[in-house]
Amino acid sequence: MLEQVRIVLVNTSHTGNIGSAARAMKTMGLSDLCLVDPVTPPDGQSVALAAGASDILANARTVSTLAEAVADCGLVIGTSARSRTWSWPMLNAREAGEKAMVEASKHKVALVFGRERTGLTNEELQQCHYHVAIPANPEYSSLNLAMAVQTLSYEVRMAWLAGTQEQPVVEDYPLASDLERFYGHLEQTLLDTGFIIKPHPGQVMTKLRRLFNRARPEDHELNILRGILTSVQRLGHRKNAE
Ligand code: SAH
Repeated sequence: MLEQVRIVLVNTSHTGNIGSAARAMKTMGLSDLCLVDPVTPPDGQSVALAAGASDILANARTVSTLAEAVADCGLVIGTSARSRTWSWPMLNAREAGEKAMVEASKHKVALVFGRERTGLTNEELQQCHYHVAIPANPEYSSLNLAMAVQTLSYEVRMAWLAGTQEQPVVEDYPLASDLERFYGHLEQTLLDTGFIIKPHPGQVMTKLRRLFNRARPEDHELNILRGILTSVQRLGHRKNAE
């Protein structure tokens, strides 16, 4: 699924940012990087900032237009530091990650990032199905390009993890009727030992029910408790027989 998500960097000025973006992608398990008309092609600075992610740089495709970069994608999400400057379907970062993962099962998905100084042009933004703005400080909302790549790649990864996680294991809990049998057994044992007496049972059983319901014993734990009660009763019978 993560292979289906492409990061597209449009007309990037700083080669270091390309390397940092590659690193951001690799930490989140993304690998498809496409460069649209970079001002300078990836260089030593890119490799230095990519650290261990230079394979992503080496495999990056360079094209001359955004249209080429997203031609084989079924969903294109454009990023902008400005939220809702003009009406276009908007997603927040979380929704963008979720949508990307939902659609990645069907087709390739592109996340498009703009120029360091001026972002994406209106024309480029109009080639996107949705726009996403990371909800940053409204007075200072422009993230470094690679940081924006990191943030959205993280959301993609979180959505992916949520989808791959196994369903939580539900323990084997006793049925209500088994619990009732246990409470009956407990009460009978406490009567046998004289801990409670029939005419004045008090609140003991209510409080014990509250205790056991809070603890929510599992099947095998309830079996132990019932075994203990049986052993206490056996002891009582033995004592009575003596
Ligand atoms: N002045 C430009 C800032 C560009 S920052 C603008 O207003 O768009 C460079 C790129 O980083 C942006 O094009 C976008 O892809 C990404 N970016 C920066 N801050 C972002 C944010 N808050 N939400 C989404 N993307 C952001």
